[in-house]
Amino acid sequence: MYSENISAQESPEYLRMSLAAAMTLDFVPGLFYRGARLGCVNLLLNYSDGCRANCAFCGLASQRQPAKSGKSFIRVPWRIYSTDDIIRAINKAPEYVSRVCISMITHPKSKMDTISACKEIASRTSLAISLLITPTLLNREDLVAMKEAGAERVGVAIDAATEDLFKKLRGKPVKGPHDWNKYWEIYDQSLEIFGKGMAGVHLICGIGETEREMVSAITRAKEMGGSTHLFSFFPEQGSAMQSMSPPAIGTYRRIQFARWS
Ligand code: SF4
Repeated sequence: MYSENISAQESPEYLRMSLAAAMTLDFVPGLFYRGARLGCVNLLLNYSDGCRANCAFCGLASQRQPAKSGKSFIRVPWRIYSTDDIIRAINKAPEYVSRVCISMITHPKSKMDTISACKEIASRTSLAISLLITPTLLNREDLVAMKEAGAERVGVAIDAATEDLFKKLRGKPVKGPHDWNKYWEIYDQSLEIFGKGMAGVHLICGIGETEREMVSAITRAKEMGGSTHLFSFFPEQGSAMQSMSPPAIGTYRRIQFARWS
């Protein structure tokens, strides 16, 4: 069922699953602190040659050390399972599990495989499906195809709060392919295609922005008609930003508060 050999088993037949989702679906034993429950099964595409981008803060960046097989993402390991096994487990999941989220990475096969995995899960389960999309690989027609495949909503991980930071951490200076304007353009088109409130922007607090800049990015995403999802920077071992500190708790709390106000 579970394989350590993550490079031999690629999407769409195989997907990586977050540790919390694997615990929720009984793939691995474990208990959540204070009885917390996970309502969303988080899945990630997998390719032997990994993500082609090189975002400075990311555990999946192509130039990250150590070897690809040891890479974590957002602090936790993502083990690989067959898509069939995942779908079977979703159909036996506790009733509080209501959603699946499939995350793209920057890879030439990623667009078609995301659509294919989305179709498969939509046709064989009753859960709502979200996609975390990679704008660099997409155009308007692709968003339409994703909706037709069964996706209910999408997230766009802009991550950096300003254009300068985005370029420095995700663009040419780190040998990455991503472009700030393209990310906002695809977010705008996502709102048009999926509907107001059905697209959102991910932002990471503590990667070099000021509090004012983060609030501006949150405001921009909200005024366009979508939502925001806030993350606190965590220095992934082996990433280019491994020695940076997470944001001060006061900063993060103020940004959380601003996001809700
Ligand atoms: S595109 Fe996404 S997965 Fe790839 S390095 Fe950047 S943040 Fe990580």
